[in-house]
Amino acid sequence: MDKPLETMEPEIDPRRSALMSRIRSSNTRPEIAVRRLLHALGYRFRLHRRDLPGKPDIVLPRHRLALFVHGCFWHQHPGCRLASKPKTRQDYWTPKLAGNVQRDQLAQEALAAMGWRVEVIWECDARKPAELERRVLEALKLGVSAMRGKGRG
Ligand SMILES: [Zn+2]
Repeated sequence: MDKPLETMEPEIDPRRSALMSRIRSSNTRPEIAVRRLLHALGYRFRLHRRDLPGKPDIVLPRHRLALFVHGCFWHQHPGCRLASKPKTRQDYWTPKLAGNVQRDQLAQEALAAMGWRVEVIWECDARKPAELERRVLEALKLGVSAMRGKGRG
């Protein structure tokens, strides 16, 4: 079987990762990994639909599925080591990060109310090819066997 994700970099240093996730981008490495996998599975998707609440990173219109690929720090992945708050300037970070989490929740509720299914794929999972595959298949409600027999393209 053809595994395009094998070329992905191994897991990187968490401190460097936290630093990198602070650089906000709409085309982050984890997001690209998710797209690559969806493409390998033969799914069609659209990116950053501005007309939808929260501007989901990846949208599968046919499946009415909205995917967010969330950086663990910015979106405060519960219990994740990448989500630990900086020790300094807590008066700045605490409300800022809480605001992000609240915005995410409101966007997800609004999408659900519009009939979209919402799945969040966390940065820490997206960095591990096996875990990413598991999460994406789960989000698509596919069994693990879906990867087999599906070549590239
Ligand atoms: Zn995480």
